[in-house]
Amino acid sequence: MTIETTTSPALDVLRRVFGYDSFRGEQAAIIDTVIDGGDALVLMPTGGGKSLCYQIPALVRAGTGVVVSPLIALMQDQVDALAALGVRAAFLNSTLDGEQRRAVERAFEDGDLDLLYLAPEGLRTRAMLDLLDRGHIALFAIDEAHCVSQWGHDFRPDYLELSMLHQRWPDVPRVALTATATAATRTEIAQRLDLGGARHFVSSFDRPNIQYRIVPKDRPERQLLELLRTEHVGDAGIVYCLSRASVEKTAAMLVENGIEALPYHAGLPAQVRAVNQARFLREDGLVMVATIAFGMGIDKPDVRFVAHLDLPKSVEGYYQETGRAGRDGLPSTAWLAYGLADVVQQRRLIETSDGDAAHRRNLNAHLGAMLALCETVECRRAQMLAYFGEEHAGDCGSCDTCVAPPEAWDGTVAAQKVLSAVLRLARERGQSFGVGQVVDILLGRDTEKVRRFRHHELSVYGVGTDLAEPEWRAVVRQLLAQGLLTVEGEHGTLVLTEASGEVLARRREVRMRHEPARAARVAKSRKTSPAADVAEADVPLFEALRAWRGGEAKAQGKPAYIVFGDATLRAIAAARPGTLDKLATISGVGENKLERYGEAVLAVVADA
Ligand code: ADP
Ligand code: ZN
Repeated sequence: MTIETTTSPALDVLRRVFGYDSFRGEQAAIIDTVIDGGDALVLMPTGGGKSLCYQIPALVRAGTGVVVSPLIALMQDQVDALAALGVRAAFLNSTLDGEQRRAVERAFEDGDLDLLYLAPEGLRTRAMLDLLDRGHIALFAIDEAHCVSQWGHDFRPDYLELSMLHQRWPDVPRVALTATATAATRTEIAQRLDLGGARHFVSSFDRPNIQYRIVPKDRPERQLLELLRTEHVGDAGIVYCLSRASVEKTAAMLVENGIEALPYHAGLPAQVRAVNQARFLREDGLVMVATIAFGMGIDKPDVRFVAHLDLPKSVEGYYQETGRAGRDGLPSTAWLAYGLADVVQQRRLIETSDGDAAHRRNLNAHLGAMLALCETVECRRAQMLAYFGEEHAGDCGSCDTCVAPPEAWDGTVAAQKVLSAVLRLARERGQSFGVGQVVDILLGRDTEKVRRFRHHELSVYGVGTDLAEPEWRAVVRQLLAQGLLTVEGEHGTLVLTEASGEVLARRREVRMRHEPARAARVAKSRKTSPAADVAEADVPLFEALRAWRGGEAKAQGKPAYIVFGDATLRAIAAARPGTLDKLATISGVGENKLERYGEAVLAVVADA
């Protein structure tokens, strides 16, 4: 193989073992720090390339890199992916039987492992600490380091114990990694893991290959089907729903419509969940319909879309869930359908939630930021990054508001009409009603319910004929989003807030967004099936390579991406290498894979 020799051992490993040309972003600096024996705290978004930051130092330094990870279910795949590269990796966790465990322990003691993955709870035992003392440790990597944060929902008490690594092995460098963006979490990690002397490496949290789209919810199932049929044919993706029931229903709906989909939620037996997760990781192009119970640490690099059928509770949640798309850097879609009912539902959930007033205020603040993101007329990417304290110039060209800018309009008068209807119902009648009745009153509709309550006698009856029903619903939605109106009780009846008074007294203007009529068309013109972005002439070869990869993966019982990633197959289809030397120059083709698959790939290329 013709790879130029370089002076840096790290770069040499990157090229030889992983088959990549150059480091990305902060990778080189992080890797150098750890190789030199320094500690590092790494904040990098999903897909940023965190794994190399400890894998390469583990290969360059003498001894075994010990990786602490809470994701037991994924350790097998991580170890398989490394084995495919010719790296000697193993794990110790509760899934091993006694004999397997002893074999791994022996390999570690004999210095035959480059990387050893451990669950954090394993480190609590005396036996494990003694074992580690008997081997030679190159470094400690603490993956998913935000699990140490007691405020996050991934908190693992065992992570708090990890500060002892430093006391027990003061000379072993440590690298803690997370994709959680907030500054508070970062401070907490540094403190709790005793990483005071560590260098901090904070990357941009932008995910440029993800297109963000938030669309008005109309008929969500039909909208979802349209998205999958026009833009994501044959793609793997995740559809998030709020409830177990809607997970089941949506998965069934997709299957009925010929799209292979699996359900995942905490109410399913553990066995079914495990099988569905394994199928999603291994098979090409499956859609996982899930509650947010699904996803942490899902390493699948080729998730092409994440669709939300219900509103996430916070921007943090939205960022994390959408972040599971496009780990491999190829174009991907984050799509959210959002409507009035979502706002009512979420506000009601908070209203009826356990916990004190401070807790509810906190939940409302998180929801408020999410709603502001939904209602913005500015670049969604810029707004989201600003939420995490990062500046972005906007105009990203790859979110719905940049592609088809919505118009802002002065909704003050419309807002006053809605608010005064709610006010009059309360003042003059002592009543409160949901959205439907308020809109019927504004439109002057003659319904049974209007007559029963004599609402046609109210002065606001029929004052809203200038807008149609969907527009009124959008007005109410935006009032709820802006905190100018709220909901109460089981039925989500509308009630005024303190801020409502300012609008009614004409002391406050209300800006609203107009949905752009062009949005639908923009969506249709974009296509990201697996073969999209592949030049037309290369599509047959790309598909032939995928088919070959599928057969190979199946024969090994491993996920397809462990054979080769989509990006590598695309590059091969474009370059059509005729020799092993040429094939070796392609990104993602390292020494081991060249030897193992080289001839087979050349045969597929020659056939096409
Ligand atoms: P993270 O753990 O930060 O989510 P990964 O370590 O899984 O990200 O890397 C994401 C993808 O990018 C993987 O497919 C990985 O092989 C690839 N990758 C990482 N670093 C490089 C690089 N320097 N050049 C090319 N591909 C890279
Ligand atoms: Zn934008």
